Order: sequence, then structure tokens, then C-alpha cells
Amino acid sequence: MTMDTILFNGITVGRLIPWLAAVAVLYAALKIYKALFAKKKVNLQHTVYFVCSNCGWEGHISKFGTRCPKCDAAAGNLGAGSE
Ligand SMILES: [Zn+2]
Repeated sequence: MTMDTILFNGITVGRLIPWLAAVAVLYAALKIYKALFAKKKVNLQHTVYFVCSNCGWEGHISKFGTRCPKCDAAAGNLGAGSE
């Protein structure tokens, strides 16, 4: 196979290589982005899923936070499975 090998519709291997390179760069960028995003997710380990019994707000709050970010009610049963 040479650079002048026609693959389809008159498109040669040589014409395709820049596109393949572009795809490779895009793929690498996506991988880097995912790696950065995965690192951000690690921070979630320091948060707990919390549902406020007072106002119904739900989301992740800091493990060390003891108050609802919306209504400021005390979050007494953080991470507790039983009542
Ligand atoms: Zn609340």
C-alpha cells in the first residue's frame, strides 16, 4: 500500500492521514479531559449524599459539613442508614 493507494471515491491514503492524525489528537485530548475529570471525582470521596429532612434539598455536601446548604438546618444523621 502506497500513499497513492485509492481507498474509495478517489481518496488516497495520503489524504486520509491528516484526518487520522486529527482524530488521534482529539482522542488524546478527550483522554486528558477524562483524566482531569476523574481526578475531580476523587474529591467526591470527601462528600456524602445528603437529603435534608427539613426542606427536601438533596445533593453532595462535605463530610465535615453539618448543615443543609439551602435552609441551614442541622444535618444530624449524616451518612446514617438507620434512624
Ligand atoms: Zn434543608
